[in-house]
Amino acid sequence: MKTAVDGIVIWEVRTGEADRVITLLTPGGLVTAYARSSLKPGGKLTGSTAMLSYSNFELSSGKNMYTVTDATSQNRFLSIYSRADRYALAVYFCELMRYLAPTEEDSSEYLSLLLNCLYLLDEDIKPAWQVKGVFEISIMSLSGYMPDVAGCSVCGSADSSGAVFFDSLEASWVCSDCLRRTGRQANYPFPVIAAVRYIVMSEARKAFSFTLGDDAQRDFSRLCEDYVLNHLERKPKTLDFYNMMR
Ligand SMILES: [Zn+2]
Repeated sequence: MKTAVDGIVIWEVRTGEADRVITLLTPGGLVTAYARSSLKPGGKLTGSTAMLSYSNFELSSGKNMYTVTDATSQNRFLSIYSRADRYALAVYFCELMRYLAPTEEDSSEYLSLLLNCLYLLDEDIKPAWQVKGVFEISIMSLSGYMPDVAGCSVCGSADSSGAVFFDSLEASWVCSDCLRRTGRQANYPFPVIAAVRYIVMSEARKAFSFTLGDDAQRDFSRLCEDYVLNHLERKPKTLDFYNMMR
């Protein structure tokens, strides 16, 4: 039986002489498919089944997995390919998608998050630190790990006069007044918590409309990355590579 679906290639494993097995993120979840002769230079599937290619796929169902019978590329995000650090970041996003997006359930929000982040990197519209942080907080929120950043976990205040403590494992924070009372140390400036709250509360497409100073950007990146590492069951292999390229 043949079926047509839009999806983006988020993983590829080379097999045989010129074939690859690809993982697609589609609106209906993750799909694995065999793409025969897709590594042949100039072949009809070569570009449209490459990593990061967003294509319309024609799939035919087989015993163990689908086979790609045709694919028409809609966007290949080729500018990302020309910069090693951006490419490494995109591959990290894809690895998180492989671990966190569902297999046979509605994944349209995951797909729009990935496409939107790749678009912003490809067109150089937003800086990498911001795209990465929004991606990390958004994908964790979609997967059921939304941080509880509305107010201080002790007094409920939505604001803080000074630096705060963010507990990554508990996914909550304590304001500077409450910290003073308990003698605990702060670990983040408050604007970082405000940025995370903005991401969690915004519509997906508006989640990038915030700014942070240079120091706060570094703290924001640290918070978002730690948050992924603390809640994901395995360490993404591609993250070290990205941090090395950066
Ligand atoms: Zn408080």
